[in-house]
Amino acid sequence: MTSANKASFRVAVIGAGASGIATAVYLQRAGVAFTIFERAGDVGGTWRDNTYPGLSCDVPSHLYRYSFAPNAEWSHEYSPAAEIHAYFRGVAERLGIIDKVRLSSEVTRAEFVGDGMWRITTTQGDEGLFNAVIAATGVLHKLVLPDIEGRDSFAGTFFHSSRWNHEVSLANKRVGIIGTGSTATQILPAIVDEVASVSLFQRTPQWIVNVPNNPFPEEKKRAFRDEPQKMAELYDHLNNLFNQRFAASLVGENDAGLAEMARACRQNLEDNVHDPDLRRRLTPSYQAGCKRLIVSDKFYPAIQRPNAHLVDAKITQIEPAGIRTADGLLHELDVIVYATGFDPFAFFRPAVIVGRDGVSLNERWKESCQAYRSVAVPGFPNLFFIGGPNSPIGNFSFLRTAEVQIGYVTRLVEMLADGMHREIEPTQEATESFNAEVEQAIKHTVWVTGGCTSWYFDKQGKVVSWPWSYGRFEADLKQPRMEEFKAA
Ligand code: NAP
Repeated sequence: MTSANKASFRVAVIGAGASGIATAVYLQRAGVAFTIFERAGDVGGTWRDNTYPGLSCDVPSHLYRYSFAPNAEWSHEYSPAAEIHAYFRGVAERLGIIDKVRLSSEVTRAEFVGDGMWRITTTQGDEGLFNAVIAATGVLHKLVLPDIEGRDSFAGTFFHSSRWNHEVSLANKRVGIIGTGSTATQILPAIVDEVASVSLFQRTPQWIVNVPNNPFPEEKKRAFRDEPQKMAELYDHLNNLFNQRFAASLVGENDAGLAEMARACRQNLEDNVHDPDLRRRLTPSYQAGCKRLIVSDKFYPAIQRPNAHLVDAKITQIEPAGIRTADGLLHELDVIVYATGFDPFAFFRPAVIVGRDGVSLNERWKESCQAYRSVAVPGFPNLFFIGGPNSPIGNFSFLRTAEVQIGYVTRLVEMLADGMHREIEPTQEATESFNAEVEQAIKHTVWVTGGCTSWYFDKQGKVVSWPWSYGRFEADLKQPRMEEFKAA
């Protein structure tokens, strides 16, 4: 391709959340033109959608940031959601990304039309042809409202945690929260003082590690401002702690670390839940680390408040007046909050992606979402994923893993933009061999051996995560192995 061709080379990025903005930054630095298509009226993805009371990130602020955009101003060790949303929008504005975002333009169809080109259609119409497509659509965007009998008959107000209804005052209301994940355990402490009562409907107890969230004093922020090197050191330290030690514990590469995690969770329960019966009801029967670990110093004190009730009888139905449980009790409520999580296998959907020979990715992924090293799929040339199947998931920074994938994908896109190739896609053999290796390795992770179910499992009962150390993820995605690709 000539440099004139490079000038006309265009990438479509789907999604202006945390990973879409970072993708744009990398493409901009590589001198590659792009347009970001965003379905909503603002950037920020999950941090735009989730505004529930008590939301803060459970990854430390100085790790949950882009490697290229340190921030001395974080108010807390674990930042509140609004601050994180403002950070992403601020980076997009400062680095000139925001002008390339097409808001309210949901990609409905991406179709490979041959000769390396993709046609993009959005809710605004035909957007024309692009040389490559990068789906940075996030992992937890499709909310799940469980199919409980009578759900819609409830006479009060109900909403999912990611669509918090700020019009409804909770003051002096009887509130029910369904779920005990990271979300529910943040909401309950944030509302307990305001409401008349709060009932937490627990299907499965959770292991919780006790970590306080302290504000950064002004002198600490000043030190970060004056000596940015301190932020870089802290980032490296936290990255090492979370990825090399914590992540290694989950994938069977650090048994002592996993045992320590279990000990800390049990100690937290013993030290901070005083009533033996409540403690028993809050004690999980599976291994710590099996479900995503909850990080909170507020949940146990909050659930022991006189107006907080743990309901561990199974929900049988929802009635106009409240929630009925298997013990026959009707829990009368004014508001029900569904903290019931997300479908992590939605990826780019509901968009339709059509690859070579008219094959749809929805069809290909109907049973199981399989990709080559989390970033590409055979038969779909020049289509790449950030946060795709088998991306590392767990209690560490999604931003860091996304940047590893973005760096790798940018190298492939540069090859296309520089005219080395017109089309790049992974081979079927390399993809199958990668997935066969994953299937063997995943058996040794605590997600599978720990005796729980979680959102990590797909409908075939397979855990779709990265089954090795974080170090291996970085090493595997350092440089594309071109022998594992078909490039024309
Ligand atoms: P989640 O972890 O998937 O939890 C959903 C909860 O709803 C579970 O307790 C589940 O019970 C329960 N549930 C689902 N259907 C139910 C039903 N029919 N009856 C009763 N209970 C039902 O969802 P989440 O708490 O929203 O968290 C999802 C992920 O988002 C987290 O793991 C994390 O990655 C991310 N997140 C991060 C933060 C943060 O950084 N601060 C905050 C929130 C969320 P079972 O356990 O029995 O299935």
